[in-house]
Amino acid sequence: MDQKRGPVLGNRLVELLCDTHARHRPNRSGALADYIPELTRVDPEAFGIAIATVDGGLHTVGDTDRTFTIQSVSKAFVYCLALELAGREAVLAKVGVEPSGDAFNSIVFDPRTNMPFNPMVNAGAITVTGIVHKLVGKGAFELILEKLSEAAGRTLAVDEAVYRSEADTGHRNRAIGHLLRNVGAVEGSVDDILDIYFRQCSILVTAADLAHMGSTLAHVGDNPVTGRQVFDLLAVRSTLAVMFTCGMYDYSGNWAFDVGVPAKSGVGGGICGVVNRQLGIGTYSPRLDPKGNSVRGVAAFTEIADELGLHAFEYSNVGSAFVRSFVSSTG
Ligand code: GLU
Repeated sequence: MDQKRGPVLGNRLVELLCDTHARHRPNRSGALADYIPELTRVDPEAFGIAIATVDGGLHTVGDTDRTFTIQSVSKAFVYCLALELAGREAVLAKVGVEPSGDAFNSIVFDPRTNMPFNPMVNAGAITVTGIVHKLVGKGAFELILEKLSEAAGRTLAVDEAVYRSEADTGHRNRAIGHLLRNVGAVEGSVDDILDIYFRQCSILVTAADLAHMGSTLAHVGDNPVTGRQVFDLLAVRSTLAVMFTCGMYDYSGNWAFDVGVPAKSGVGGGICGVVNRQLGIGTYSPRLDPKGNSVRGVAAFTEIADELGLHAFEYSNVGSAFVRSFVSSTG
């Protein structure tokens, strides 16, 4: 490792974040999610990018301490928790790992198994929440909140207004929940499971939190800042694989092709990305493209991944050397 180049590369990273932020800030395309009425009450201009490294460093630009609801980004972390609690086989018996190519809220099951395609679409995520509910019972939501807080390294809370708004209007998710009950993917009270699901989607995070949560996965389940083991390493491996193939709605194939980083996006405008053994990236900008991904978030990720050579199949390997020397010299 070339220690002398480290600080220069560290400065280059900060410059890159600032340049990327400045370049995409004027982009006002896309629209706020409005199918959950309360989600329209956010500042559409907010834009933050954060990188948290596995040595505990945090680098930010823009609105990285602005809170927003985690929405579907929670699906990745609750899946990791369910794998740990129930074990891989029990989870695979209820929800698959195939990309669906359909919208996140589609009411479609895998025709071969009659089960949800994967844990990143609503049907699969509600099933996963059902697994945690079945195993933990009444304390299921508290455990989910605790795990996500440990991954972020601080105590997270729920946005009660978004939770109520989602609970009041989530009829499509209720329909999915009852269908899941009908095919045996979930057991017990559908209302109780959906209540946990709506709460988990309404957890408030910042772009910096998403970066830390990503770095916890990148650090094979240990939070690099607190040193606490949050997730089991095999569960992390499976979660990253599903994030890689299914994490960006029906843009996941393009994302794997262009960005090449396991990531999960949410309709609140957040994206959490993981560069294995290196870093987590969190972005926040609430205007979404037609697929449900943050417009500026996708643009920023694409540029940063390209500049730093973060793609999983980076041909030159220059990128990982670049990031490694940066990681070793900044903290
Ligand atoms: N709570 C949202 C829903 O289930 C999450 C959607 C998302 O972020 O993709 O509709």
